[in-house]
Amino acid sequence: MSVDGDPNRSTLDLARQNEIFETTPPAGILRWVTETFAPDAVLTMSFQHEGVVIAHMLREIAPETPILFIDTGYHFPETLAYRDELVSRFQLPIRNLSSTMPRPEFIEKYGDDLHQRDPDLCCKINKVEPLQLALRGVRAWINGRRRDQASTRTDMKIAERLQGDMVKVNPLANWSSKDTFEYMTRFDIPTHPLFEQGYASIGCAPCTRPILAGEDERAGRWAGRGKTECGLHTFLEPAEDESAASVDETRSERPDDKAS
Ligand code: SF4
Repeated sequence: MSVDGDPNRSTLDLARQNEIFETTPPAGILRWVTETFAPDAVLTMSFQHEGVVIAHMLREIAPETPILFIDTGYHFPETLAYRDELVSRFQLPIRNLSSTMPRPEFIEKYGDDLHQRDPDLCCKINKVEPLQLALRGVRAWINGRRRDQASTRTDMKIAERLQGDMVKVNPLANWSSKDTFEYMTRFDIPTHPLFEQGYASIGCAPCTRPILAGEDERAGRWAGRGKTECGLHTFLEPAEDESAASVDETRSERPDDKAS
């Protein structure tokens, strides 16, 4: 079926696809998304374990899929070292993104404690805006969210249609942290160096603390500041008709500068 009179675009039934995905292993979901949207699919990750697992799976399925890492300038040194180690070990096609505002200009304008005074603005400048730029032209956005990480993620679909005809794919939606660790153990993938120190969800250093016994996985993020998400997963609204997405039947080679 053509879309908007364009014979090269057809409609995907995402509602039906989601029914299938509920019983499809993550590798099968990744195969579908990369075959359907190549070369316009990317993975975003911050070198948390779920992103690492997906990046590892993509090596076999579609190793050319770009991996976007947002370097906010506030990551733990351990995260940057872990990134470098895994990029080198698995030859990951990483693209580091950063704010368009040079750091000296950022500090001069906002100071170096904006994350304490206005974390939403700090995330907007250092995380959301760089990703918005990088996602231009991208049709499928793969990420590592799981439903059991937070109450705000419980009802997440595996494939979501967002504004701009973007399809966001959450291949590990049905996994638990145990599934993630079992995969990492099976493939001898090292864990994040801060994990052993009680950091269950790891973002920027000024906004992350270890969790306490009984707390949920993301309790250490922006603790005590009434903030639970950085905005990366909320800046694009769901599309009006979430059940359908169009797909370009004519595949072109990925331009070298896509999402860089
Ligand atoms: S997580 Fe904290 S330091 Fe990182 S961009 Fe957001 S507010 Fe700034």
